[in-house]
Amino acid sequence: LSGIGVQCGAHRLWSHKAFKAKLGLRIFLAACQTMAGQKNIYYWVRDHRVHHKYSDTDADPHNSHRGFWFAHMGWIYLKKHPLVLEKGNQLDMSDIEADPVVMFQQKYYVPLLILFWGVIPAVIPVIFWNESLLLSILGCVFFRHVYMLNVTGLVNSYAHMFGYRPYDTRIRPAESTYVRHLMMGEGFHNYHHTFPWDYSASELGSLDVFNPATAAIDFFHAMGWAYDLRKPTPAMVANRIKGHGDQVEAELHRTSS
Ligand SMILES: [Zn+2]
Ligand SMILES: [Zn+2]
Repeated sequence: LSGIGVQCGAHRLWSHKAFKAKLGLRIFLAACQTMAGQKNIYYWVRDHRVHHKYSDTDADPHNSHRGFWFAHMGWIYLKKHPLVLEKGNQLDMSDIEADPVVMFQQKYYVPLLILFWGVIPAVIPVIFWNESLLLSILGCVFFRHVYMLNVTGLVNSYAHMFGYRPYDTRIRPAESTYVRHLMMGEGFHNYHHTFPWDYSASELGSLDVFNPATAAIDFFHAMGWAYDLRKPTPAMVANRIKGHGDQVEAELHRTSS
């Protein structure tokens, strides 16, 4: 659920406006995103938008030129580069500021964090299947937190260094191969930086590859809670590959998927 909150919510919905969500879904995704403990949505979106706008430069909060570990995790614990702050403050965040769900989460982040990140995951196993509180806290709070942080970290580190670049050879983000399964559907990163507003964050859909966030958005779409799902036409993708991509790698990528 925390993965769904980060990927469907903070990433595809709020950072990229790749689809629209009704109030109930926005509340659900905000609760799930709080569960992840990866900063509030407002800061997550600001960091991510500045990452896309200035990818792999000093203004990118997790500039992969500063090394694998910096991009993976170090950037969270180190002081931000002055350019990240400068460019981040220039971003247009008016759409985020206009969403009462995001602003409510930001205002009450600490109590919400304690509740959704800590208390609820810890007590559910105790109440429903008699787990010991210690194991529940270790497994469902701490291990889960570290696991999801690494899933997200791999997208910023590994997927900015290794893999195919079929859609745009001029940029560093790449289509990861086997490791992308660890990234739970966010490892199609050359595509994602080429078409960031695609709700699937991949050329492929949830029935073609392992992409639980796309499957979740499709599910919410079928329920009527998610709408206006955005996706480029096949002709737009083909044109981009022809213009700046690598057709051989594009074919290889499709067949290996
Ligand atoms: Zn990226
Ligand atoms: Zn993105």
